Amino acid sequence: LMAVVSNILDFSELQSGKMELEEESYNITSTINDLITMFQALKSDKRIELIVDCDANMPNLLLGDEKKLRRIIMNLVDNAIKFTEEGCVSIGFGFRKESYGINLQVTVKDTGIGIAEESLAKICTGFHQVDAGTKRSGSGVGLGLAIARALIRKMGGTMTIKSRQGKGTT
Ligand code: ADP
Repeated sequence: LMAVVSNILDFSELQSGKMELEEESYNITSTINDLITMFQALKSDKRIELIVDCDANMPNLLLGDEKKLRRIIMNLVDNAIKFTEEGCVSIGFGFRKESYGINLQVTVKDTGIGIAEESLAKICTGFHQVDAGTKRSGSGVGLGLAIARALIRKMGGTMTIKSRQGKGTT
């Protein structure tokens, strides 16, 4: 319930343009370590493999809003685990050197149920869930991706989703 409430609050803050981002330096290695502990808790007893990969040349100190970054990654990994029954969920951390500094690139890939092409455009708008009938097993209110996308945009980044039904989502 806490997660649902904070998602609704964040979504309305983002929509009203009142969300402010912090700019502080943070240690990406400790962020990744903390996230791994949280991923393990999300996975609980599911028989899927969790793979975390980080570019060995990743600079240690990055500049940005670390709390929001965690939020984005947790939303994506939460979905990946929720909609995958077998196979794996892999999370990759890479970067690109740009004139303004380091551009962090995060990839979350799963071998789960995938998303039909006609649903892909709708799921990032908010309050949309694929197959939102009574047979649906996943929880949530359909805001995770909309929040992730809006936060990434506010950070000057982009989020792309590729998916094939029955094959998985990246
Ligand atoms: P929530 O997870 O709270 O329902 P999201 O915005 O995070 O909301 O996701 C919206 C919908 O998109 C999900 O309910 C699900 O139907 C679909 N979806 C999101 N991520 C995945 C994924 N990795 N694999 C399959 N379906 C997904």
